[in-house]
Amino acid sequence: MGIIRPLDEHLANQIAAGEVVERPASVLKELIENAVDAGSSRIDVVAEEGGLSLLRITDDGAGIQSDDMLIAFQRHATSKIAAAKDLFQISTLGFRGEALPSIAAVAKIRCVSATDNGGLARIVEIEGGAIRKDGETNAPKGTEMTVRDLFFNTPARLKYMKTVQTELGHLSDVVYRQALAHPDIAFTFQHNGSTLLRTPGNGDLRQVVAAIYGSSAAKSMVEIQGSDPDYSIAGLTALPVETRANRNAVTVLVNGRYVRSQAVMQPLLQAYHTLLPVHRFPLSVVHLRMHPSLLDVNVHPAKLEVRFSKEAELRTFVEETVKRALSAQAYIPSGSSTT
Ligand code: ADP
Ligand code: MG
Repeated sequence: MGIIRPLDEHLANQIAAGEVVERPASVLKELIENAVDAGSSRIDVVAEEGGLSLLRITDDGAGIQSDDMLIAFQRHATSKIAAAKDLFQISTLGFRGEALPSIAAVAKIRCVSATDNGGLARIVEIEGGAIRKDGETNAPKGTEMTVRDLFFNTPARLKYMKTVQTELGHLSDVVYRQALAHPDIAFTFQHNGSTLLRTPGNGDLRQVVAAIYGSSAAKSMVEIQGSDPDYSIAGLTALPVETRANRNAVTVLVNGRYVRSQAVMQPLLQAYHTLLPVHRFPLSVVHLRMHPSLLDVNVHPAKLEVRFSKEAELRTFVEETVKRALSAQAYIPSGSSTT
């Protein structure tokens, strides 16, 4: 008899969790993405001890149907794609069906979800992959995910966690990026009882920027706006007086997804030409939109990297649009803008 056999589901989930759930911020990112995909208009985040002891994400989105609740925690189970062709047309943040089973494998998770107001909600508790509770309760429409004691059953990973302050920094980055990506969603973020962020959810990007970076930074930014047949861009970018030493100053969002992209970052910096001091980055929030078929998001497990099918055209488009925004402020001669 041979010695090769498939891993059991629990073990497979634990292995996947090693990739998907690096630290509390990865859990937060996945759960906020799910709330965004559910069409929420408000998302409230509560964390304790850098997210290691508690993360709670509450949304007012579509909710999970009672019959789907346990399936949602199965590996590769998703409502977002069904066929191979869908992979080339992704319009949601999630699609791999890996987050919930991975988180449930390495933490204690409670999910309460209802698809209607006034109806019954399903409540499920799973600890290290084992179902501990499954019942009904009352809750408003939407979903509340509570994750406690992350890595309680994987001590090696737990030991590797940094200080509360470091983990909090990563949590904040996740919330900030999602808030900048979705100005039409009202976000709140609380850590150890104090409120660190509150955005109005009225669609005004400048107000989100003000909530995160302060109102004087927000006032100093100019609008970027442009479109061509393939791409549209909208956002805010700082005049060369408001720069930072860190490249995180530039937030790139592609179809509502935060990404790290040299294909957008480089032409943006190029547009400033000699105006930027060396090793300084302008505070910028760039929303790019394009048909999902022009984009491959299935590159990286955390989906932080994407590939553009017409990268050269995109680079030119970004550089020209940002140049135009800056030249309108007389920062660069208008002759250098060709569009
Ligand atoms: P994916 O997001 O890749 O589909 P997940 O494991 O993150 O995979 O979630 C599995 C499924 O559970 C989702 O496809 C969705 O149908 C459902 N789901 C998860 N979170 C929420 C939420 N906050 N609101 C509504 N549905 C949710
Ligand atoms: Mg997801």
